[in-house]
Amino acid sequence: MEDSPTADDYELPGKPDSLWLATTPGTEYPTLAAGLMVDVAIVGGGIVGATAASLLKEAGLTVAVIESRRVVTGVTGYTTAKITSQHGLIYHRLTERFGADAAAVYAQANQAGLEKIAELVETKSIACDFFRAPAYTFTETEAESGCDRN
Ligand SMILES: Cc1cc2nc3c(=O)[nH]c(=O)nc-3n(C[C@H](O)[C@H](O)[C@H](O)COP(=O)(O)OP(=O)(O)OC[C@H]3O[C@@H](n4cnc5c(N)ncnc54)[C@H](O)[C@@H]3O)c2cc1C
Repeated sequence: MEDSPTADDYELPGKPDSLWLATTPGTEYPTLAAGLMVDVAIVGGGIVGATAASLLKEAGLTVAVIESRRVVTGVTGYTTAKITSQHGLIYHRLTERFGADAAAVYAQANQAGLEKIAELVETKSIACDFFRAPAYTFTETEAESGCDRN
């Protein structure tokens, strides 16, 4: 009988890296100057902070994004960049724990975020190859087909 494969059998060459961080130039923004006055200070230059800053600016407010490292090098720098309202079996878990209404609120919030991104891509003509596609959750093993996972 053959031995079961180990992690070493799947070793890939090279080092793991983020496509986004490995293929885009770094940013060099100035250190925060003392006495800066703005309407809104946003702590964190990830996608949430950057999006909020952009929307607040469009609404006519002055904004400062304060980032302790480099912008988008946090979790945002490692996204797979899919935008979805479907996260595994999350709706099963939410329905079980909090009820169908709460699960629906979660779905609506996710969908609103998804549509906001689609709108920003279109209105700002962002060249990011955005397209819509079906989303499926599947498993290849019977053991994982239970609904206790998300
Ligand atoms: C491997 C991976 C794949 C993912 N894939 C997807 C995906 O396909 N689709 C999806 O929708 N989501 C995905 N996500 C999740 C998504 O990337 C995150 O939810 C999102 O990027 C979070 O953005 P954020 O702006 O909240 O946080 P971050 O990008 O982490 O930004 C927060 C920033 O705040 C800064 N900061 C923290 N504390 C301070 C402080 N005290 N002062 C100043 N700055 C501070 C940090 O340095 C950081 O830059 C993925 C995540 C990972 C790790």
